[in-house]
Amino acid sequence: MPTRFAALKKSPATKSGPVRKAAPGRPAGSKAAEKAEALNDKYENIPFDDSRVVKYRETPGWEVLRQVAAPIAEVTDEIRALVDEMGDIMYTAHGVGLAAPQVGRSIRLITYDAGDGLTALLNPEIVKMKGEQYEPEEGCLSIPGLRGVVKRANEVVVKAMNLDGKTVQFRAREFEARILQHEIDHLNGVLFIDKADPESLHMLTPAQERGEAEPGDAPVAPAE
Ligand SMILES: [Zn+2]
Repeated sequence: MPTRFAALKKSPATKSGPVRKAAPGRPAGSKAAEKAEALNDKYENIPFDDSRVVKYRETPGWEVLRQVAAPIAEVTDEIRALVDEMGDIMYTAHGVGLAAPQVGRSIRLITYDAGDGLTALLNPEIVKMKGEQYEPEEGCLSIPGLRGVVKRANEVVVKAMNLDGKTVQFRAREFEARILQHEIDHLNGVLFIDKADPESLHMLTPAQERGEAEPGDAPVAPAE
């Protein structure tokens, strides 16, 4: 556990939080929480390894996390290979989103899976935002174990280039909108700790972090 956040440790994490597994026959707190929960289940069968993710203030060259990433001019074989690699890194690190700076590349590329499979976006930008949401708690693969409440827009319209080199524009809500805002922040050198309610920041237990929480522990949303 990174000692730098030790003072923030509060355990158990989200005992009364919204990402708790719903009791049989009862709905979870919100659609976003349900999606996060479904992803937790999905990652249960993938051996955890986050060694290829750049860790904040830890990995040599971590400063890449604080840089504004460069736009991508075109989809090359190198970009396609990087997308494959990022997808692999993201799933083995049990993440739901990953930005290129988190693998040491200061370019505007993100991958994510909000429950509908792997999506890659190049030069993504938010062109519209609406409403607000506060759950589930956010985490970041570059800051292992830390979680906190971040106020995000509930709905965003994102414009980006896809892997075919075409410009796409689409609307995303709730959990997907949260992931997109988190990842696009990464491309601007912004981390969730910059936006989280400081009072809400807390460390997970190592078991919760690996998604191996014992029954009774509060399950948590995957990191991004
Ligand atoms: Zn992150």
